[in-house]
Amino acid sequence: MRMETVNILGVPVAGMTKDEVLEWIRIMVEQRKPRHVVTANAEIIYKAYREEEFFKLLAKADLITPDGSGVMGAARLLGKHLPQRVTGIDLTQEIFRVGEEKKWSLYFLGAGPEVVKKAVLNTLSLHNHLNIVGYHHGYFSQQENDQVVSKIKQAKPDILLVALGAPKQELFIQEYLKDMQVPVSIGVGGTFDVLAGTAKRAPVLLQNLGLEWLYRLVKEPKRYKRMLALPKFVGAVLKSRMKTKNSSK
Ligand code: UDP
Repeated sequence: MRMETVNILGVPVAGMTKDEVLEWIRIMVEQRKPRHVVTANAEIIYKAYREEEFFKLLAKADLITPDGSGVMGAARLLGKHLPQRVTGIDLTQEIFRVGEEKKWSLYFLGAGPEVVKKAVLNTLSLHNHLNIVGYHHGYFSQQENDQVVSKIKQAKPDILLVALGAPKQELFIQEYLKDMQVPVSIGVGGTFDVLAGTAKRAPVLLQNLGLEWLYRLVKEPKRYKRMLALPKFVGAVLKSRMKTKNSSK
């Protein structure tokens, strides 16, 4: 399958629409080799830019989608085009829609015990034919990792949704990818909170204006520290643009 990428601070972000990503997932579910999908926001890319270990980890991912207007804006600054934002929640909802028809089996891992349970129940009430083969909350210790992994292995899902927040979910997926043998594992951040109704998405108008981050900041002011990465990210992208321009002179 053709996959064009836009290089943002060394991270190859896929220039694919949601539909193309779903088609990619369909093929990977058929191939049955374990693959890792990252839904990357500016914070994740900036972390990879700053930390070599994390950069190496992201380099092992099979698909990196642009999750956020910061990443879309960065591509524009570099004179490149990314067709569409593909966020964790968007991708999850598309997987429910297509998965119900294709009979994909899903496993939910992450969020608090009540949140993940509610997320599963709410999902099933909207998609009664969806095959959810198991779920587990995301507050387990390092010592419990093996136990959680063996539960996932027993359930044999086609797709594993991991909502442990970044970078925990990316570290977990890479560490256990081979062992779990799940065809597609995706880090989906705060998705279960949205599905459970404990967190709300920004109104569509704000989403379309690329201002979902502002809505989240107002709802969860605690996030402001994390959001300070955004201007630094933009600065680094501008610097990388200057370098490319100078080297092509
Ligand atoms: N979470 C978890 N285990 C942890 C830390 C976080 O399951 O040890 C969950 C948390 O309950 C929330 C999600 O991970 O549902 C993180 O959501 P957030 O919106 O912060 O995701 P991010 O923006 O980091 O991708």
